[in-house]
Amino acid sequence: MNILVINCGSSSAKFQLFDIDNGTVLAKGNAERIGIDGKLTFKPTGKDEFVSTDPMPDHKVAVKMILDALVDKTHGVISDISEIAAVGHRVLHGGKYYSASVIVDDDVKRVIRECFPLGPLHNPANLIGIEACEAVLPKGTPQVAVFDTAFHQTMPPKAYMYALPYEYYEKYSIRRYGFHGTSHRYVSHRVADFLGKKYEDLKIVTCHLGNGSSFAAVKDGKCQDTSMGLTPLAGICMGTRTGDIDPAIVPFIMKKEGLSPDEMDNLLNKKSGVQGISGVSSDFRDLEKAAKEGNERAQLALDMFAYQGKKIIGSYAAAMGGVDVVVFTAGIGENTDHMRAAICKDLEFMGIEIDDSVNTGLRGKEAIISKPGSKVTVCVIPTNEELAIAQETKALI
Ligand code: AMP
Repeated sequence: MNILVINCGSSSAKFQLFDIDNGTVLAKGNAERIGIDGKLTFKPTGKDEFVSTDPMPDHKVAVKMILDALVDKTHGVISDISEIAAVGHRVLHGGKYYSASVIVDDDVKRVIRECFPLGPLHNPANLIGIEACEAVLPKGTPQVAVFDTAFHQTMPPKAYMYALPYEYYEKYSIRRYGFHGTSHRYVSHRVADFLGKKYEDLKIVTCHLGNGSSFAAVKDGKCQDTSMGLTPLAGICMGTRTGDIDPAIVPFIMKKEGLSPDEMDNLLNKKSGVQGISGVSSDFRDLEKAAKEGNERAQLALDMFAYQGKKIIGSYAAAMGGVDVVVFTAGIGENTDHMRAAICKDLEFMGIEIDDSVNTGLRGKEAIISKPGSKVTVCVIPTNEELAIAQETKALI
C-alpha cells in the first residue's frame, strides 16, 4: 500500500511516498517557492534526481506537479495516481479537539480553520495542502490529518494551564499544547520496542533536540507534560528561539527599544536562542567548532542549552516520580555526543550514567548509551516523523 505524506508550509510542500507494507520510501522531495516562481526537487529512490522550475502559482499546481512527477514515465515510481491509497498531512495545531490523527472531513477542516489563530504560520498552509490534494487526487482518496499537538492532549490540567486569569483560557484557549508530538510518540513507542519493554510500564523522558527542541514526560503510555507551550517558543533555548524567559522581559524590551508586538515576536523567535547568545550561528556544528577555537559566547550558548535540558529532565523525573528511560532524538539528539553527555552529566545521583565508549562518536543509529548498570537507560532513537505519519494514516484507513 502506497501512502503519500505531505508537510505543507506557506510557500513549500515537502513530500514522501511510502510503500508502507515494507516501510520503504519510493520517492521524496520538496516543492518550494510556491506563489513566487517555483522549484520542484524530486528524488526517486534508486533513480536520478529530477528538478523542475516550471511556474508554481499556487499549492494546487504544486500538488499536481508532485503527482505528475510520481507517475512520470522516466523518473516516476508508480504507474497511476490510483496507486496512492491515502495522503497523510502533517498539521501543526489541532487545539484541544484532537488527541489522535483523524480522517479529514468538513468538521476536521473547520477545526483546523478554527485553530488558525493558534498556528498562524502553519495551519492555513496545512489546510491549503489538504484542499489541494482533494482537488487533484481521485475523488474519495482518504486524507488524514496528523496533528503535532495530538500526542500531548493527555496532559492533565495542572500541567497544561497557565496561571493567567481563567477567562483567557475560556475566551482564547490559551494553555500549553506542546509540539513535535508525532516525534515524541514515535520515539517513545520505538524505544519501548527496542528495549523489549511494555510501553505502558515505562516512565520515559523524550528529548527532541533539533533546530526546534522539546521534551516530553511519558508515563503509563501517556504524555504527562511537555516543554513547548501555546506556541513552539517555550521550553529550552533553541536555534533562534528564546525558550522560557521571565515574561516581564517582553514589555521591558518593547518599551526600551520601542518595538511593536510583531517586532518583539520576531526578536523572540528569530534573533534569540543560541544564535542570539553566541552571535555565531544557530547550528550546533558551528557552535561546537567556534567553542573549540575558544569562542566564549559559543561555549556559553552550549552550556546554557545543556543546563536547561538537564533541568527539564530532572523536573520530569520529579513530575513522574522517577524515570526509567531517557531518549535522545532529532538533529542534535542523534548526532551530538558532546551535548548528550553534557546534558546527562551530574545526573548520576538519579541513576543516569552515560557509557562514553558507546556514546562518543555515535550518530544517527538506535543504541543504548548508558552503562550496563545504569538505573536509567539512556538511548538514541532516530526520529522519523514522515514514516510515523504514514503509519498512522495506514492505521486509520
Ligand atoms: P533538525 O531540526 O532535527 O533537523 O536538527 C537541526 C540541528 O541539528 C542543526 O541545526 C544542527 O545544530 C544539528 N545537527 C544536525 N546534524 C548534526 C551533526 N552531524 N552534528 C552536530 N549537530 C548536528
